[in-house]
Formats: sequence, C-alpha cells, structure tokens
Amino acid sequence: MPLTVKGRRSRSARLVITLLIGTVPIALGFAILYLQAQRSLEDSTARTAQEAVRQFDLMLDNTEQAARALLPLAGQACDRDRQLALREQVTRRPFVRSTNLIFDSVNYCSSLFGDRFVAELKAEDYVAGQLLLMPGNPVTPDTALLVYRQSEGRRGALATVDGYHLTNALRLISPYSDLLLQVGPNWLSSQGKVLDSTPPSYPVAPSHLSSSRYPYSVAAGMPQGEVWRYMKARYPALFSLLIFFGALSAVLGHWLQKRTSWPGHELHRALEAGEFIPYFQPVVRGDTLQWAGIEVLMRWQHPKQGLVRPDMFIPFAEHCGLIVPMTRSLMRQTSTVLAPHAAQLVDGFHVGVNITASHCLDLALVDDCREFLAAFPPGKVSLVLELTERELIQPTEITHQLFEQLHGLGVLIAIDDFGTGHSSLGYLRQFKVDFLKIDQSFVAMIGIDALSRHILDSIIELSAKLDLGIVAEGVETVLQSEYLAAQGVDYLQGYLFGRPMPGDEFLVALSKH
Ligand code: C2E
Ligand code: CA
Ligand code: CA
Repeated sequence: MPLTVKGRRSRSARLVITLLIGTVPIALGFAILYLQAQRSLEDSTARTAQEAVRQFDLMLDNTEQAARALLPLAGQACDRDRQLALREQVTRRPFVRSTNLIFDSVNYCSSLFGDRFVAELKAEDYVAGQLLLMPGNPVTPDTALLVYRQSEGRRGALATVDGYHLTNALRLISPYSDLLLQVGPNWLSSQGKVLDSTPPSYPVAPSHLSSSRYPYSVAAGMPQGEVWRYMKARYPALFSLLIFFGALSAVLGHWLQKRTSWPGHELHRALEAGEFIPYFQPVVRGDTLQWAGIEVLMRWQHPKQGLVRPDMFIPFAEHCGLIVPMTRSLMRQTSTVLAPHAAQLVDGFHVGVNITASHCLDLALVDDCREFLAAFPPGKVSLVLELTERELIQPTEITHQLFEQLHGLGVLIAIDDFGTGHSSLGYLRQFKVDFLKIDQSFVAMIGIDALSRHILDSIIELSAKLDLGIVAEGVETVLQSEYLAAQGVDYLQGYLFGRPMPGDEFLVALSKH
C-alpha cells in the first residue's frame, strides 16, 4: 500500500530528524555561548594581569625612589643621621617597609635594626641584580617580602615591599581570576606563600604578562569548570531562550515533515502528475451478451509501486477531500478516450462512474457530468453514477437539488453493491434510483449457497416490481451468466466478459465487438 507503508517506514526517520532539528540549534547555541564565555574570561584575565603589573610597578616605583635617594649614603657610617635618613624613606614612601644600606655586598645599616644586624647578600642573588622575592625575614619569618636593590660600584641601597601589600593586590585586583607574582624562580600565591616550585598552569583563560620596567611577571587564570560556572551565572535567560527555540524548531520541523509525508500530499502530487487513470470493464446485455456499456474503474499508475488497486487509495482520497478532483480527472480522461470512437458505441452506451457521499456535498458534480456528456453526440452515452449502498447519503436540501439537476441532465443513478447495505424503499425513491447493481458476493454463491440465491432472487424480483434496471457484478462462469439471464437480469458484468483494461486495450476490444 503506497500510502501507509511509506508513512510507517519513515516514522522513526521522522523522529530522528525531529530530534536533530531540535538538538542541533541547541548544541550550536551552547557551543557559541561556550566560546563567547571563554573569550570573555580570557579578556578578563588579560585585564587582570595588566592591572596587576600596573599595581606592582607602582609599588616598585616607591622602592626605586627610596633606594635612589639612599644610594649616595651607602659606604658612610651607620650613625644616627644615616639611620634617620633610612627611616625617613620608610615613612615618606607608601609601600616601603624597610630600607638598608650596602657596601661591598654587606648589608650593614638598616631602618629596622640600625647597625645591629649585618648580612651579606651579593648582587647576583637578585634577579637581574634588582629584585628578590623572599618567604620572610628574621622579623616576620612568615610574611613574604619583595626586596628592591640599586647598586653603583661597591655601593648599594635596598628598599622592601611588605608581602601584605603584594598578597592584597593579588587577591583584590580580580575576585574571579587566580593571580600570582613571579620573580625569577620564586613565586607568590594569592594565599601569601612564596614557593620555588613550578608555578601552577591555569586550565582556563591563562594569561602571562612581564613588566617592561622591573624583572618580574604575573600569571592570571581560572580553575577547571570556570567556563560552565560563568555561563550558568551569566546566561540563564539565553539558555531558556535556546531551549525554547530548539523545541520550537523541533515542533516546526515535525509539523513540516508530517505535512510532506501526509497521504494527501502524495495523492495531490499524483493527481497533478496525471497518475490516476481510468480502466474500463465492459457491461453486457443479459439477453444478447452484446456490449452495452462500461464501468470506469480508477487505477493509480504509481511511478515506483506500479499499478495500484483503488481500494488501496480511494479511502485516503475521500479522507483528504481529493476524491472529487480525482473523479473529475477520470471523467475527462474517459471522454477523451471514448469520444473519438463514439461511432462504434451503441446508442445509449452506459458509462458507469463510481461516486462517493462526499460528491454529494455540493453541486460541482453537476458541472462535471454536463462537461462529460457534452463531449458526445446527444443520446450517444448514458452516464450512470454508481453510489455504494454501504455509504448511504443523508438527504438534505443540497442532495435534493443535486439529484434533481442530475436527472435533468439525463444522468442515471445506480446503487452499487446492492444487498450489502441498508437502503430502504424510501431511500431508493428519494434519490430516484434507476439501477441496482447486485453485489458480486451473491453472484459468486450461485449454485453453491441456497440462502444467497434466495436473496438474489428477491433482489431481482424487487427491482422488477420497482421498475428498476438490474446489473449483476462479478460474473465469472457461464453457469452464473445463464442463471442470471434466465432470471431476467438486464446487464451482466464480470471477468467472463472482460476484465478492467486500459483505454487503448479497450478500444481494440471494442472494435472487435
Ligand atoms: P466496485 O464499484 O464494486 O467495482 C467492481 C469491482 O469488482 C472492481 O474492482 C472490478 O475489477 C471487480 N470485478 C469486476 N468483475 C469481477 C469478477 O468477475 N470477479 C471479481 N472477483 N471481481 C470483479 P476494482 O477495480 O478493484 O475496484 C474496487 C472498488 O474500488 C470498486 O468496487 C469501487 O468501490 C472502488 N472504485 C474503483 N474505481 C473508483 C472510482 O473511480 N471512484 C470511486 N469512488 N471508487 C472507485
Ligand atoms: Ca461500481
Ligand atoms: Ca460492487
């Protein structure tokens, strides 16, 4: 069945496509947001590193100024005046914690201890002879200390920055990034620890910047998972929007797919492509077995499935509201085939066309019938509309008008599959029925089932009493044919006289009769 098989086969595929349509935009949106978040974090750590260098440069400028002021005093005795000069620099310069004088690498005079504490520190111990990051000194062994040294020949001056200022800067410059200060092999963490191990490498948004003025660098970065945390904090509205649009596109995609795989779509395409074609089955006179007419039966010449039987697609066509244009096309094709050969037809040649209840909802059928009859010389053909008894028509004002106008055109009405439904005498009169078509199931039982034969006989009797013409369908054997003819059945139709055949084949067969 071309319609349902196709629908069933593609259902899982449709579901997969719907899922893809929904998830791909969400995944893409997430990826874009992720990259965007990563970029923002990189910008943020780069700015943090720049700010840190600016701050540390500022602190070291203080120590540089203090050391420059003190350098001329190096080598002089560590007396009260020198010690005052050292302390003055500590007091005047923010960030400077202590100052010292050096001569021949010996730290001999200090703002803290005067001449009581003497230590030897060579210029080579300092990074670029200038900076030294220490874990602490004898006064505050646990507090980091950054020592700045200026030297000139044998003389030197030191100014130190308290680790407190350094760690404060590391902590406060950015609440989001981790920051560390590196001086040569030593580095200071934002927890205030000085270590000489390999500094940590930041997995997210790492940024490294060296000062252009002093021999140190800073590294900023963020811990694992920071991008997601950032996204969760920053983009909750965008997330909701993404999911909303994903769901929307999935629904839209599903609907579009459903529309294109809807049977009506396929039938519509087939109708446009002229794939519905008429087959003709002869109807013969009961007495002479002469060809007295045909029944037009629809076939679907499907490009892939081949010839499709009508019961496979007619119910869909009715359901989709396409049966009316399909029948119209069938009638036009029929007149195109038959009209040029009208001379070969006996006068009043019956052309049976099957219609459904949906044809009776408006008066369009009248125009289709008029157009069909106009293709033939007057009186050449009798158009017989076959209405199945299984689908009774509700009498309304429209159906009343419709059947009036059809009769006006000389169109005949036959009740198809008679004996299988529930039409009453009133029904037969109301729609001015002209023929009863005995269902093939009764014909098939001739000589086999006594009850069926009784029903058959009653139908024949009834039709005679009501003055209705009678057609027997599905005549396959000579026995059936002879029995029906003996009962006075007007017309016979069945494989015994001819199978439904395409137009060209029918014309060849017609010319032989
Ligand atoms: P139906 O109107 O009762 O048509 C008679 C069916 O019996 C046809 O089947 C025909 O091929 C078949 N038939 C004819 N002689 C014999 C026979 O000796 N033995 C047997 N076993 N069958 C015979 P088909 O062409 O397959 O059509 C089936 C049904 O589809 C039709 O039943 C009719 O209800 C519907 N149909 C066909 N064409 C159209 C159409 O254009 N419009 C509408 N609405 N329905 C159609
Ligand atoms: Ca029929
Ligand atoms: Ca029938």
